[in-house]
Amino acid sequence: MLAFRFSFSTLILLCFNFIIPLSAQNFDDVIIKSEQLSDKIYMLTGAGGNIGICVGEDGIFMIDDQFAPLSNKIKTAIKEISDQPIRFVINTHWHGDHTGGNENFGTSGAVIVAHENVRKRMSTEQFMQAFGRKVPPSPDKALPLITFPETINFHLNGEDIIAFHMHNAHTDGDAIIYFPNSNIIHMGDTFFKGRFPFIDISSGGSIEGIIAVCNKVLFLSDEQTKIIPGHGTLASKTELTNYRDMLMIVRDRVKKAVIDGKL
Ligand SMILES: [Zn+2]
Repeated sequence: MLAFRFSFSTLILLCFNFIIPLSAQNFDDVIIKSEQLSDKIYMLTGAGGNIGICVGEDGIFMIDDQFAPLSNKIKTAIKEISDQPIRFVINTHWHGDHTGGNENFGTSGAVIVAHENVRKRMSTEQFMQAFGRKVPPSPDKALPLITFPETINFHLNGEDIIAFHMHNAHTDGDAIIYFPNSNIIHMGDTFFKGRFPFIDISSGGSIEGIIAVCNKVLFLSDEQTKIIPGHGTLASKTELTNYRDMLMIVRDRVKKAVIDGKL
């Protein structure tokens, strides 16, 4: 079992296209683009994980915040959509390309929310096995002020926003953000559209967990559902189905290769 896990991990690490930059990146040329998904919900892209925002008279609810040097550009892009304050930022997981702006947005007044394992990992030094790289603890102001174990609901702008945890998928602290009224779901890095997955095994991720997330989101979806992946362009249920099927094929082939002694 241990041998299987090691071999499978190794293969996954070899396969992925990973987005977190390994060294200092120049953000000067990054442009934050927004795409309207409904009358209240937008997807923002720049560098790092895809951002979701829900705007309206109750204030702005935001999903992930990319890298710290981009915070002002992100705020400018959001201001063009709404001049309401950003009240909440929810992190889909602890990786720096999704939480790097926490300190800036928190200092500006947003309440940071995340699964409890996000706060635990951001509070202490982490070692990312995929890169052989240590990640230092985040400053106190970047840490989530509110954490949840399984689910947390928000009620803003006429939306009932449901954030739910899925165990051991991309990491051990993933949150999926579901807008049932608008039929929109943000999957964080449990979905890398058009790419092989990155499964952060050293942060508690697992292939079975990722497949379980896909199945749950597919259950919640219909052909009109708009699915925001952690990385890549906006997706449909059909595209997520293809991704889930690819994951199952890779898993089964690797499992067979291990059983056959090829890995
Ligand atoms: Zn990630």
